[in-house]
Amino acid sequence: MHHDSYRPLCWLALPLLLCAQSLFAAAPLATLAVTNPIAAATPDNSAAPVAKHDTTKSFRWPAGKIAAVSLAYDDALNSQLDVAVPQLNKAGLTASFYLPIAAPTLQTRQDDWRAVAAKGHELGNHSLFHQCRKSLPGRDWVSVTRDLDTISAAEMAEQVRLANVFLHALDGKTARTYTVPCTDALAQGQPYLPLLAGDFVAMKTQVGGVISDMQTLDIQQVPVVTPSNVSGDALIAMVKQAGAAGGMINFTFHGVGGDHLAVSREAHQQLIDFLAANPQYWTTTFIEQMQYVQAVRAE
Ligand SMILES: [Zn+2]
Repeated sequence: MHHDSYRPLCWLALPLLLCAQSLFAAAPLATLAVTNPIAAATPDNSAAPVAKHDTTKSFRWPAGKIAAVSLAYDDALNSQLDVAVPQLNKAGLTASFYLPIAAPTLQTRQDDWRAVAAKGHELGNHSLFHQCRKSLPGRDWVSVTRDLDTISAAEMAEQVRLANVFLHALDGKTARTYTVPCTDALAQGQPYLPLLAGDFVAMKTQVGGVISDMQTLDIQQVPVVTPSNVSGDALIAMVKQAGAAGGMINFTFHGVGGDHLAVSREAHQQLIDFLAANPQYWTTTFIEQMQYVQAVRAE
């Protein structure tokens, strides 16, 4: 979700995208979109959409599960492929990886990302170019060509939809979730996320804490925690907090044992070991968890 500075690689990405686009020319882009009844019912959802389910019923996770744990990794970093993925695979856990299509590893390690998807992990949308607002404090690192203050909301939404086409070419999937780069929701001062209503099963849009009330959670505005430089014990404490609430914890990691905003290899392994040994926590892809929530609400 947070910063990175990507080297330009559109010379490679664009031909692939155009290729992907022509491959699926027979299927209109709209067929790649996921129909989200909640979002579709509120096309102007600049305010929080009102859930249509019965909030008087108590929410239940699948049998034997007391809380959901989503492990997510933003920005398509080398350390995720080198450290996090092997740790997850060895433990038999699945996670979600949010790829900005212009990230260097999409150029250099595309087969590795295909292998990640083949193992059952989710490839999530993190936009084409990871645009963030350069005008905000501490945003000197944002390049002028990737400044969300200089692109229109309609252009940004179009790019994010195109990232779905590229991800479809990688993993063959059509349902997708989105993590908003830098949590910046305004393009040229206009909200762009309402333009994507109906394109995603769910979106992560803000930094928050443990989700304690699954009944009222707006799955188009899900909060995450973004741990860096913390201990394994601290990560496990957050999982237990979600368990006590019967809710959910969404971890959004960046580097693991390297790269930016990193957690150590050891702290990450400690969390993975805890989750593997405690299956009462439902550790799986964010999209599976959100599709479950949708299904419960549709009952
Ligand atoms: Zn990011």
